[in-house]
Amino acid sequence: MAWLEAVATSDPGSGSDGDATRRRYRLRNPVTLEPVGEFDAQREAEVRAAVERARKAQPAWAALDFDERGRFLQRAVAHLLANQDAFVETIVAETGKPTVEAFASEIVTSCDVLTWYAKRARRILADRALPVHLVKNKKLRIAYQPLGVVGIITPWNFPFVLSLNPTAQALMAGNAVILKPSEITAFSGRLLQELFDAAGLPEGVFQVVLGDGETGRALCEAGVDKISFTGSVASGRKVGEACGRNLVPCTLELGGKDPMIVCPDADLDRAANGAVYGAFTNSGQVCISTERVYVVDEVADEFTRKVVEKTASLRQGAGGEVDVGAMITPTQLEIVERHVADAVARGARVLAGGRRNPAYEGLFYEPTVLTDVNHDMLVMTEETFGPVLPIMRVRDVDEAVELANDTRYGLNASIWTRDRRVGAQLARSIEAGAVVVNGCMVTYGVTEAPFGGRKDSGVGQVNGEIGLRSYCHAQSILVDRFGGKSEGSWYPHTEKKLSRMKRMARWIWGTPLGRLLS
Ligand code: NAD
Repeated sequence: MAWLEAVATSDPGSGSDGDATRRRYRLRNPVTLEPVGEFDAQREAEVRAAVERARKAQPAWAALDFDERGRFLQRAVAHLLANQDAFVETIVAETGKPTVEAFASEIVTSCDVLTWYAKRARRILADRALPVHLVKNKKLRIAYQPLGVVGIITPWNFPFVLSLNPTAQALMAGNAVILKPSEITAFSGRLLQELFDAAGLPEGVFQVVLGDGETGRALCEAGVDKISFTGSVASGRKVGEACGRNLVPCTLELGGKDPMIVCPDADLDRAANGAVYGAFTNSGQVCISTERVYVVDEVADEFTRKVVEKTASLRQGAGGEVDVGAMITPTQLEIVERHVADAVARGARVLAGGRRNPAYEGLFYEPTVLTDVNHDMLVMTEETFGPVLPIMRVRDVDEAVELANDTRYGLNASIWTRDRRVGAQLARSIEAGAVVVNGCMVTYGVTEAPFGGRKDSGVGQVNGEIGLRSYCHAQSILVDRFGGKSEGSWYPHTEKKLSRMKRMARWIWGTPLGRLLS
């Protein structure tokens, strides 16, 4: 059975853009394997038309006061709360997540980000007056101006909130938005159109274009003013290349291989609970999943025993009273099977799971714990994006840090120790965008925390004040303070001026008082 069935239909009547073939997709429910619906991928000309509409609508949107824009977002919250069950139903049907997980990660977080940016954008994006240290005859103000039209391209693993969060930020900053959600969760992405239409957003300010990688590529080429991309490293590279060619700024939020370091003094119950949650929530299909554990030798046996015990108590299935849901597509499940098979072939031991769940027809892979793993294995080096927890025994914390950094990824990490001060210090030695001490999975949910990867895990950051400002151009406005017919550095250039400048430079950077004031 083809999973994401593409039905290419010729549509000669609308081929003026040279893209005459319409790609139609059929999506399936990962639990029941039944079709959930079909949609047409939008073509290049349609994407360009959406950008044109957005460009026309954006100035009036930007002219609104922050409070006025915020009121639209607050109305979106009201609609989301009133329709939460229907929204969750669509998300669950497409992703196979447990209902509780869908509610917590998609609805709760969405309400929070809509409200947070609606309430705080005024303060964060207010003009700032900065003191000028040298050119004292100028006053400097920073004005945060909207960029214009922002293209947002998103993945399937949290199809609602990962689309909504950047959208909320871009809108509050005064931009119009075109969202291209994942083709695998198109209907969850389309919920955002319902949400903002219900909130009464002016026409053209927010639009969803449905489609695949081709549609995403078209968006990158359609003359937008920024691309905010979340997805795999491979697609991120292509998006980065297109943005570079078009001189369009972009943020790239990409994959990860997050390490967890268990120190000898860790609270082992908390660490084991955290490892199990961090590895198996959303069936491990989280960019900040715990994908590899390094546990110091002296506590390795006890930690591993606790992890296996807690894994055995997890309930897998669909609905409300379950812990671990389905995987998204057969392709994703096959990656997990390949990583586990590779690890076993190279000497890993399977302490839990290690196979598809035979109780179900749907795409369920059992929560899996591996030991005797090393960095020759795919499961320790490539993003697995599935419910697999490989545990590696290490000599000491130094070796754990060395191995944690032995990767091309650098998204998140966690450190587990009773000494919180040591944990926070150790965090600085991990090459990752964020590090959590005695916790996991929380970084994206703390709205204030800048989020973004190092190395192959991404370029730029989203969220918090930094994220919101990244949807603006920080324009410097320099205003002359004293007037006068001319300034010292203006024409004419003379020998006298040169010797005056030399004296000044010697005084400013060559004397103690000058250095103090510079
Ligand atoms: P993907 O790269 O296959 O697709 C992501 C989006 O990009 C989709 O909408 C897709 O249609 C689009 N796309 C594909 N090719 C494109 C192109 N050439 N130009 C423009 N758009 C294109 O990723 P996925 O499988 O949907 O998501 C899983 C990946 O996303 C994992 O690697 C995961 O770690 C990562 N992810 C990262 C974060 C983060 O914040 N860092 C969050 C969630 C997921």
